[in-house]
Amino acid sequence: MPKPDDGPASGTILTNARIVLPDGVRHGDLHIADGRITTFAVGEQIDLGGRYVVPGFVDMHVHGGAGASYQRPQQARRAASFHLAHGTTTTMASLVTGTPRELAETVAGLADLAADGVIAGIHLEGPYLARDRCGAHDPALLRAPDPAEFRRLVRLGRGHVRMITLAPELPGALDLVREAADAGVIPAVGHTEAAGGTARAAFDAGARVATHLFNAMRPLHHREGGPVAAALNDPRVTVELINDGVHVEPAVTRLAFAAAGPRVALITDAMAAAGMGDGDYRLGAMDVEVRGGRATLAGGTSIAGSTITMADAFRRAVTDAGLPVQDAARAASLTPARALGIGSRAGSLEPGKDADLAVLDDDLQVTWVMKRGTIVPRARILSEN
Ligand SMILES: [Zn+2]
Repeated sequence: MPKPDDGPASGTILTNARIVLPDGVRHGDLHIADGRITTFAVGEQIDLGGRYVVPGFVDMHVHGGAGASYQRPQQARRAASFHLAHGTTTTMASLVTGTPRELAETVAGLADLAADGVIAGIHLEGPYLARDRCGAHDPALLRAPDPAEFRRLVRLGRGHVRMITLAPELPGALDLVREAADAGVIPAVGHTEAAGGTARAAFDAGARVATHLFNAMRPLHHREGGPVAAALNDPRVTVELINDGVHVEPAVTRLAFAAAGPRVALITDAMAAAGMGDGDYRLGAMDVEVRGGRATLAGGTSIAGSTITMADAFRRAVTDAGLPVQDAARAASLTPARALGIGSRAGSLEPGKDADLAVLDDDLQVTWVMKRGTIVPRARILSEN
């Protein structure tokens, strides 16, 4: 216990808080010292007046925000700080399909930002995806799994390529799933025409995530459950959900939680347009129009990523899908943290974990954000809104 002569206190106590824990909501104080949640701290007291405190959001699938795209490493800090200001304290950087050269350059650039802690890792969404389920990926650049290219990207990523989404029905895909798992890269099934048997084979080979369940995959049919049933039924698999009210409707969100509650990870799949309003944008090589907050490929109807933040995904899970606050918080933090292998330091407000959190008002709007015990300057929220 610190004594008065230990020098200036380094801690913070959030008093009068509604603390959202994995198993419920507790009213009381949250102690923070040296950047971590602790059982006792001395220092500044901040009275939250009964506001909610939720664990900082963990977004395992996001392409950008605030006009910035992870496809361009020089813009990555802007995207990450936009989402941080809205409560995302841990973010992956997802890359859409590109040419071998583009991907290599981008991965190398993002590895520096991962080493600096700006992003938690790189998610390769593609380029080994099904042409018929390409969504907003340039179909001309899709290719069969190429182990040599994959190894090169992993090498250029210097340990920071953490996930790859691929279509398991492509030639050589299951071998690549095994190779990725062995290399510490989480294989994810997505953008796929696979039937249930092939999806199950991918999970048996080491795939552990279903990329934006329901979207860009063979739909659930009662005589062929496809990847949706395979993923929902498999206790090893985390299912991502784009809970923006566009990609899945609230009834489907409820269905996913009923089938696989602790394995549902809310994601944004946000593109650069998040936080920017309507306009014309780029996603990789594709032109995207945002009208009324809905992003579609230019001149078409294919939806192309979202424009939400994790705070929106979390709030919609409560207000639109009717989930308890703690279940929505788990899906926005603990489940994705565990899927990424960082559940011991992120994802919940428990002693020993990083003091990454968001303070929310009664309408579940973000009031302010703390990362590693430091309050994120509110100016960032104001300047980027
Ligand atoms: Zn995506």
